[in-house]
Amino acid sequence: MNDAMRRAAAIALLILGGAALWSAGSEAPASASANDAMVATIAAARERAAANDPRLKPAWRFEEGGWIYVHLEGDPGTVGYQHGYLLAPEIEDGFAAVSVGMMHSTKRDWEFFRKAAREMLWPKIDAEYQQELQGIVDGLRARTGSKLDVYDIVAFNAFEELPDYYVPWLNKREKTANAPNLKSPGNCSAFVATGSWTKDGQIVMAHNNWTNYKNGERWRIVFDIAPKNGYRMLMDGFPGVIASDDDFGINSDGLMVTETTITQFEGWDPNGKAEFVRARKALQYGGSIDEYTKIMLDGNNGGYANDWLLGDRKTGEIAQLELGLKAYKLWRTKDGVLAGSNWARDTKVLKEDTPQFDANNKESSPNARRARWEELLNENKGKIDVALAEKMLGDHTDTAEKKEDTNERTLCGHVDGSPRGVREWDWQPYYPGGAVQGKATDAAMTKEMRIVARMGHPCGGDFLAKPFLAAHPEYAWQEPYLRDMKAGPWTEFRSGQAKKE
Ligand SMILES: [Zn+2]
Repeated sequence: MNDAMRRAAAIALLILGGAALWSAGSEAPASASANDAMVATIAAARERAAANDPRLKPAWRFEEGGWIYVHLEGDPGTVGYQHGYLLAPEIEDGFAAVSVGMMHSTKRDWEFFRKAAREMLWPKIDAEYQQELQGIVDGLRARTGSKLDVYDIVAFNAFEELPDYYVPWLNKREKTANAPNLKSPGNCSAFVATGSWTKDGQIVMAHNNWTNYKNGERWRIVFDIAPKNGYRMLMDGFPGVIASDDDFGINSDGLMVTETTITQFEGWDPNGKAEFVRARKALQYGGSIDEYTKIMLDGNNGGYANDWLLGDRKTGEIAQLELGLKAYKLWRTKDGVLAGSNWARDTKVLKEDTPQFDANNKESSPNARRARWEELLNENKGKIDVALAEKMLGDHTDTAEKKEDTNERTLCGHVDGSPRGVREWDWQPYYPGGAVQGKATDAAMTKEMRIVARMGHPCGGDFLAKPFLAAHPEYAWQEPYLRDMKAGPWTEFRSGQAKKE
């Protein structure tokens, strides 16, 4: 047989096969519904058995103000199991939205990320977090029969560090042809203040999370975690991810933690420890600014490089840990304010870790917001409290154009309203991203393990997907995942909180 004949025979077989399937399909309804019924019975039995699992006893979940609150408690495997079980629908949904974005921006398939998780990240993850991650898989599978395994979950946990830190480093190293223009993200506006700057002289900390709306509208979990070892934690977070990751959290030893990312950071250490593991560990075991810093530096891989804004309510001291890979710097004070909007300031970090960043361009999002923080915080020196912090997170002053606007230069970011986008992060014009939620707390609240949080734009504005996609068809690929992001009310959450009756 020559090639043409072989192809013709193959096509004939395909057609015959298709016809056979088609004719079988026409007789199938009775057996198909019997099969569906059997699958449903098995699923119901699995859910019943899983719901009676004793590991779920100390855990609970409820929804309020657009947030999902989960209380997790126990050893690492148990905390993971509760997390996977209680948030199973949100994990499946979040995984789908996040993984499609990771593949779209990097032009890499999912197997690439699984391999990075398995070979590079997993061996360096502390045993207790390996157990917690495996627990998430077990709880998720018990509830939904999910096919996701631990390497899917590890790659997903690293969604802030693999696509925008590891991949560009790898592309450069391997001289990848037609490599996409990947940039480290610019996430968030935040500050921490203390001493003569605040109303009561104690620490106030606030943060709004900037990310694409597709991920951001899913960033709506309040985690209350009582681990077997380490401090109790209250933090916001993403379903299926063990660190806060945006980040905002407090612990029962009085440590207060938030951050903004460093714009145009470049670098990755494949032998380092995943950032999401270090960040979670530092919140769980850091009882002081020094302990926090030590854990973040241990195995620093350069992933998701941030300016960490810290407070210790026991001493009233605040700090900024600018954590580059080649360089880092720690500033600390008991009387001052430290703000972040995605710019580095240490000369060595600027030179060695962010060689492309232009600190003098007043029109860029990071620098325009930096100027606004300076104005706003100075104007309010001595008056800063949580109520004022809530207002600041929703601020709409554009310092470059000197007017009120909703765009990429306002503390409450609305990049979908900007014809410029954000070049430094490779966010194209009208990119559907910006401030997706906000949180605040102070020293007195931290003592009682309380935070306030608002889902959606901190100003209270809504993002509506349908009119946006109609006006901007270039983002049509996000259509299956992009939803309305309607703002909820500022809502208080506390450790051990039970559902409102
Ligand atoms: Zn706004």
